[in-house]
Amino acid sequence: MAQAAIKAAKLSAAAVFKLGAAGARVDDRVEAMSNSSSNPDAGERDRIGARQTSPPLEPGLYVVATPIGNLRDITLRALDVLGAAGRVYAEDTRVARKLLDAYGLKPRLGAYHDHSAERARAEIMAALAARESVALISDAGTPLVSDPGFKLVCAAIKGGHRVFPIPGPSAALAGLVASGLPSDRFLFAGFLPAKQGARRAALTELAQIDATLILFESGPRLVESLADMATLLGPRPAAVARELTKLFEETRRDGLDALAAHYAEAGAPRGEIVIVVGPPAEAEAPSEQVLDAFLTEALARCSVKEAAIAAARALGGSRKQAYARALMLKGKV
Ligand code: SAM
Repeated sequence: MAQAAIKAAKLSAAAVFKLGAAGARVDDRVEAMSNSSSNPDAGERDRIGARQTSPPLEPGLYVVATPIGNLRDITLRALDVLGAAGRVYAEDTRVARKLLDAYGLKPRLGAYHDHSAERARAEIMAALAARESVALISDAGTPLVSDPGFKLVCAAIKGGHRVFPIPGPSAALAGLVASGLPSDRFLFAGFLPAKQGARRAALTELAQIDATLILFESGPRLVESLADMATLLGPRPAAVARELTKLFEETRRDGLDALAAHYAEAGAPRGEIVIVVGPPAEAEAPSEQVLDAFLTEALARCSVKEAAIAAARALGGSRKQAYARALMLKGKV
């Protein structure tokens, strides 16, 4: 019964994979297939994605991303690894069982959460030393991203073991791509501190960063966090992405102050939340004369790139414009 469920899930997913694969670059596929951890069985090459039994795994720690709401957001490789790992460690074994049951998987399951970390870490290190394959999952999304696993990965590396990332969903990137805010440079800042003083100090630091900000937040704390953000980050565009990939998924996009006002009136929303905040507006560009004087002086000490960054920081205006000007002053264009 369980095998039939895995087979059905993998075969239907395989059909989707094949459609997607048509657009993949040939060299990407060749590289993936020649990587033994992605496809150890040469006989399976033309049926990638259609495995009916999980291939054996190399010994090592597999950090496996799992869905953030929609159970179908699991990769074929994650299923392979969870089906074949000698042991699977989960933040909460009850949560893990729901996912594993949905795919008919029954691995040897252990707990790895913040409280059990020391004991479980020793157990996992012993398994790795015995050349077992160990998978780590969290309740949802990518382990280590505001979830347990960092110390374990460090210990595994220190112990000379291989660490295999099995990429997949993460609420941070899902929120970013739904936000409509610049995605070329972003900083993931996790959860803000719960206490207002520490939260304001953290926001004051984040205000200096010239990038889109991604934060996790809980419903009950959203109203006060947005109010502090509106005060300390200034009038920036933002998005509140809630219940991503789930039935009541919603992304509200507006200025920080308008979002703060909306939730102050509507009250704390239910569900899980990612807040995405656009980068600070560029300050008015300095005059050409001022920019040139600054750059000339800076170029005597540092590279074109460093001089441009320093000029944009000190004088405002765009880094790109300062870079173009610095290149010109250096006689490179
Ligand atoms: N490691 C996870 C990841 O990669 O997505 C994040 C774990 S962190 C403990 C949980 C937080 O992620 C939630 O409080 C919420 O801020 C965010 N989150 C998780 N799932 C979400 C979803 N479906 N929609 C919006 N935010 C989500």
